[in-house]
Amino acid sequence: MKKADQKFIGAHVSAAGGVDNAPLNAKELGATAFALFTKNQRQWQAKPLESKVIDNFRRRCELYGFSPAQILPHDSYLINLGHPETEAREKSLNAFADELQRCEQLGLDRLNFHPGSHLRKISETESLKLVAESVNRALEKTTGVMAVIENTAGQGSNLGYSFEHLAEIIDQVEDKSRIGVCLDTCHAFAAGYDLRTNESCTQVFQQFEETVGFSYLQGMHLNDSKGALNSRKDRHHSLGEGEIGWEAFRFIMQDKRFNGIPMVLETIDSSIWHEEIHSLQILAGQKV
Ligand SMILES: [Zn+2]
Ligand SMILES: [Zn+2]
Repeated sequence: MKKADQKFIGAHVSAAGGVDNAPLNAKELGATAFALFTKNQRQWQAKPLESKVIDNFRRRCELYGFSPAQILPHDSYLINLGHPETEAREKSLNAFADELQRCEQLGLDRLNFHPGSHLRKISETESLKLVAESVNRALEKTTGVMAVIENTAGQGSNLGYSFEHLAEIIDQVEDKSRIGVCLDTCHAFAAGYDLRTNESCTQVFQQFEETVGFSYLQGMHLNDSKGALNSRKDRHHSLGEGEIGWEAFRFIMQDKRFNGIPMVLETIDSSIWHEEIHSLQILAGQKV
């Protein structure tokens, strides 16, 4: 089977002690994909990556068979590219550009980010425009790495809870070859997209195709949800333990449109990631 025809399945693994530990942690889970933070996600500042760590990361990825299409780095939670205030937005933009550069150094080709928040000071449309402008400027400062927008649960004043929001950002990004999306199943469900049955999944992903398009899909976050449909609560659960249930994950594992992209768990119990990954691989027909 060609690599692009496969399902790449893994988890958001720890990079404690150095980003070069992430591929090792993923390998130990039996994963074929992983996500990571390339710096502390709760701090603005980070020291530059050491060349020894970069080399080690690249070597281990090659050794364990993780190509860039199997890796989905996630940016810092502090970044808000749609911030209504110029100074705060600039700070976010610089931090985002720095994260794109770190990905580039690591040989990675995409960076997952949350669109941002309007903080109830400007309209959604205005804030989405600022997100797109920030992305345009950050992409100009870097090469090779794609900005991958994650849909959100729509908690508080967070943007990105509808497919239309994702499309609105993409429409205003100049270089369409460097913008993509990552769908988080928990966030989608909490934002009102019902994924509980085969029929509802068919409908939701049809809607995604019509509004955004699968050509932009560059990653998935596979999470069940503690919150109910349309609860707007970003509360992840282990697969099958929450309000979504296994049917959605079966649907995704058996649908070719999800081939060749990193699909990672951000579920709450890392002690069962190994089993969750194994179950998903069985559903994808890639393990017996
Ligand atoms: Zn995220
Ligand atoms: Zn997520």
